[in-house]
Amino acid sequence: MSLRLFNSLTRRVEPFAPLDPACPTLYVCGPTVYNYAHIGNARGPVVFGVLAALLRRRYGDLRYARNITDVDDKINAAARERGVPISEITDRYAAAYREDMAALGVAAPDIEPAATAHIGEIVAMIERLVGSGHAYAAEGHVLFSVASFEGYGKLSRRDPDEMLAGARVEVAPYKRDAGDFVLWKPSTDDLPGWDSPWGRGRPGWHIECSAMAAAHLGETIDIHAGGIDLQFPHHENEVAQSECAHGGRTFARFWLHNGMLTLTGAKMSKSAGNIEKVNDLRQRHPPEALRYALLSAHYRQPLDWSDNLIEQSVRTLDRLYGTLRDLAAVEAAPQIPAAIEAALDDDLNTPQALAELAGIAADARKADSDELRKQSKSQLLGAGLALGLLQQDPAAWFARGASGDDDARIRGLIDERAAAKKNRDFARADAIREQLAAEGVLLEDTPQGVRWKRA
Ligand SMILES: [Zn+2]
Repeated sequence: MSLRLFNSLTRRVEPFAPLDPACPTLYVCGPTVYNYAHIGNARGPVVFGVLAALLRRRYGDLRYARNITDVDDKINAAARERGVPISEITDRYAAAYREDMAALGVAAPDIEPAATAHIGEIVAMIERLVGSGHAYAAEGHVLFSVASFEGYGKLSRRDPDEMLAGARVEVAPYKRDAGDFVLWKPSTDDLPGWDSPWGRGRPGWHIECSAMAAAHLGETIDIHAGGIDLQFPHHENEVAQSECAHGGRTFARFWLHNGMLTLTGAKMSKSAGNIEKVNDLRQRHPPEALRYALLSAHYRQPLDWSDNLIEQSVRTLDRLYGTLRDLAAVEAAPQIPAAIEAALDDDLNTPQALAELAGIAADARKADSDELRKQSKSQLLGAGLALGLLQQDPAAWFARGASGDDDARIRGLIDERAAAKKNRDFARADAIREQLAAEGVLLEDTPQGVRWKRA
């Protein structure tokens, strides 16, 4: 078996082999935490999570980093609007993001670096770029000089005019070139900021990923992944910064980009307006069906997101879990079928893997001996394991209506309690805690938000 991946850098499907066969490295651009994650933001983590699991199986180890952008103008705006420090916004939505991803069956990365915890590394990288003539300070800003890097544009393959149009670049008097981008910008007293050789300020978005990838995965990483919407300018700028700061060494050997989700049906996009948030969707649908839906198209293709797609995914999982329920009495350990590995080796062909999964289930339903039933169940569980599906008890899947609704109600009460506390309505907050305690639901206040469990 050999993994082949479409490398955006070369525009070709290439055999993958890690630099260090004992431990591949993977970096995925993570969320900017100022609001709940959109279902489109979950596609990368879901599909690249399948890749991460495959790499761990194949090589026995993996260093996988997915960052958190916790300083950003959108975060500043949200904090100012609510009159709270940015950490209140970022802690809350980082916790919500982790909950959403866990609900979708996305395993946590090995490292989840936060930009604000890497200001030292960011400043050091910018100093290196200034020292080598790839960046310049002007009016409290530090800008990367695009003209200083011959390879600029090699990832997105745009011509300079197109690049400028695509980025909707800010024209500023302190820029030497319209395409030059910000590495550091000044902060006024009311904005978060850190001391630097260029005065008090904060990092630009692109430099964060370059500095954090180098800090945790080294100067050359095996695979860098993210949404196709990030290819330009974000990833192009990451390449420029990293390769210029590291003496021209390749930044990422493979670049993987997932396609975007599109919303059809005017009905769906017009209704609540927030219908596409993972947090809302998973209150109304089994999260595993959302995961199935995200894997139903090849990751590089656009995916048309609709209620119909979710309903189809629920029906398919009903059939698969029904098969597992029929095999409840059969003892079997998961074994990943070769056909599933082969489909994933083919540039993460998850639609093909799901077709194989359906075939295995059909065979299982026809199995007419104990031996065949055991083998079918092993393969069914193994195929599910490789895709992050079919890992719950069939009874739990079929009971989803009741428990799913109840979870949503409990979450609603917890949110109401948080709002009451914020409004200093402690009587209401305590009443909600007591009501939930009486139902056997225990709350735990943690720095990442409220966790709850049934006693
Ligand atoms: Zn990034």
